[in-house]
Amino acid sequence: MIYLDYAATMPMRQQAIEAMQPYFADCAANAGAAHGAGREARRAVDRARASVAQALNADPSELFWTSGGTESDNWALFGTAKAQPERRHIIVSAIEHHAVLHPAEALQDMGFEVTLIRPDGEGIVSAEAVKAALRSDTLLVSVMTANNEVGTLQPIAEIAAAAHECGALMHTDAVQAVGHVPVDVRATGVDLLSFSAHKFGGPKGVGGLYVRRGTRIAPLLYGGAQERGLRSGTENVPGIVGTAAALGEAVGAMPQESARIAALRDLLMERILEECAFARVSGSLERRLPGNLHLTFEGVDQDALLLRLDLAGVMASAGSACTSGIRERSHVIRAMGKDGEGEADLRLSLGSRTTEEECLEAAGIIADAAKDLRKKV
Ligand code: PLP
Repeated sequence: MIYLDYAATMPMRQQAIEAMQPYFADCAANAGAAHGAGREARRAVDRARASVAQALNADPSELFWTSGGTESDNWALFGTAKAQPERRHIIVSAIEHHAVLHPAEALQDMGFEVTLIRPDGEGIVSAEAVKAALRSDTLLVSVMTANNEVGTLQPIAEIAAAAHECGALMHTDAVQAVGHVPVDVRATGVDLLSFSAHKFGGPKGVGGLYVRRGTRIAPLLYGGAQERGLRSGTENVPGIVGTAAALGEAVGAMPQESARIAALRDLLMERILEECAFARVSGSLERRLPGNLHLTFEGVDQDALLLRLDLAGVMASAGSACTSGIRERSHVIRAMGKDGEGEADLRLSLGSRTTEEECLEAAGIIADAAKDLRKKV
């Protein structure tokens, strides 16, 4: 099996599995308990918070644990809207994950006005386009750091500066970026940032939201008042410990790993394009995650291609994992104006365990499948 679906989820890093182990049974106390075992669990949660905060250049008090990227994105949108209802306008990019787009639609149903910003043909959202849409009552601008389908990296610092000039908050969904490219909340100046552990080799179902000190945000979840009253729910201690261990390893290995993975991605791309003149790359190659390759094959059936690859042992995806199974062309590709008829999209995403041998073998399998299917159209 050749796994080329790291953007959907990444196999857990060994270091994270080992770090989590003691917290399932040996040190399984509730981090809110006042006894010694509870205090030990609390210390583990706080150590993890400090370590993840350092990786993002945040203060530990600005970091809140959540159940992952979806919750963090929902919280950023609904939480700020609830805290500042006098501001009625929200700007989101058209290529956001549904974890941002659907809350934005829900806010629209509740009476907020939403402006969708389209990217250019290369999948980049420009600060100028955001500037043109900003209003005196804009509450929030939400633009992702890296796109989950085409891997494009957005000019977050410029967009945040523009948002702040109008008194708006800046949120970025950095779920695909954290652990893969440097992410620094001070350098970009964002007010809110979402991340998810399973995208960088931590466990599924855990992540966090960075909230710059002083940002007005209401809770999404009410209950036992954990996370300083802003996110209730018993802390997922093993998950939180695993998140910090995975991110520590990802950030430490990043300088070498990102170069190695980008070189493998380029090899995969060159081999497939050499064989398939009817294939093209979608999204900027310069401003892109190291492990992302998005190809569109003209005259090839989408489902047939994925099925062939699956049968041949190549695990890839048509776009985002959450929308696979739905036949409609991805909203990202449509927003980029690249949605021709009878085309197949293929997202190949590489990661820490991907090898050169795998890329060479996968390139052959993909090119053969695409050429064969094209004949049948
Ligand atoms: N945002 C982006 C950009 C993603 O790629 C994903 C996952 O695919 C999410 C949010 C949702 O994160 P989670 O799976 O942790 O809920």
